[in-house]
Amino acid sequence: MAIVAGIEGGGTKFICGIGNEKGEILDSIRIETTSPTETMDKIINYFQCKNFEAIGVGVFGPIELDRDSEEYGTILSTPKIQWQQYNIYKTLKEHFNRPIVIEHDVNAALLGELTWGAAQGLRNAIYYTVGTGVGAGLWLNNQFHHGELHGEIGHMLIPVLEEDTPKGGSCPFHKNCLEGLVSGPGIYHRFGIKGEDIPQESPIWDNVAHYIGIACVNTTLAYAPQRIILGGGVMNQEFLLKKIQEHYLDALGGYGQKKIFIDVENFIVPAQLHNDPGLMGAFALANKILL
Ligand code: ADP
Ligand code: ZN
Repeated sequence: MAIVAGIEGGGTKFICGIGNEKGEILDSIRIETTSPTETMDKIINYFQCKNFEAIGVGVFGPIELDRDSEEYGTILSTPKIQWQQYNIYKTLKEHFNRPIVIEHDVNAALLGELTWGAAQGLRNAIYYTVGTGVGAGLWLNNQFHHGELHGEIGHMLIPVLEEDTPKGGSCPFHKNCLEGLVSGPGIYHRFGIKGEDIPQESPIWDNVAHYIGIACVNTTLAYAPQRIILGGGVMNQEFLLKKIQEHYLDALGGYGQKKIFIDVENFIVPAQLHNDPGLMGAFALANKILL
């Protein structure tokens, strides 16, 4: 059984761990995200005394993912200035002569769902995380869809409801993109209350479900996936899923070209990996490269 290393790289913390083929976390450590040198030194120290066959990394972007590029694994124009132009792949490769694969964090989480969760066996699946930001991983025709970099579908523009026009969303670039409207900070910006504290009966949840439902319609029409999987902190409100399914059907307006697109309970589903989806995704990446 392959023992692999996984790294989940986020803006506030890196979670590093050792896992097996079942995605079980055998050991893990949390390392604060400070400067790249300090953070990576701690990561290297942690893994140096461990046994593993490959390393999978799911990390915040934008990041160069073209394996043929000299810049593979380089973080690009992030607001985290110190990390700009930092090449995670090169640093790891200098210390560990084993297969290493780098992916965007949402794609890694999606691979976790494909391997052990809600997307098992699917050829076309899309995974959204609705948390501090909104991001999506695209698995199309059995591979990640990257384009020239990787998409930023969380910034899709959404027609805004009349009642929302004065305040608008929180995105510094687009204001009313999906992330600006329904991310945790977007909800707080618009309503002045944290998602965690909003009661189930509040009309805010209909508003949020409406926008996520529209995003699911746009996603379906653009990519025709077999399933859309929704994860992230905001989706901890379990009742929200049903509202999203209803708003999706409503916004689709009867334009369900295929039965699977209107079989909402099987089409829009919750993420299944709750026990650190990012780290499990990183294990899945490492396992995949060993196949
Ligand atoms: P991250 O996106 O940083 O990886 P999360 O996916 O946990 O982390 O998302 C954090 C965001 O989700 C915060 O903005 C928080 O307000 C929101 N959030 C966390 N739990 C809930 C909840 N139970 N209900 C609504 N929003 C939540
Ligand atoms: Zn935006």
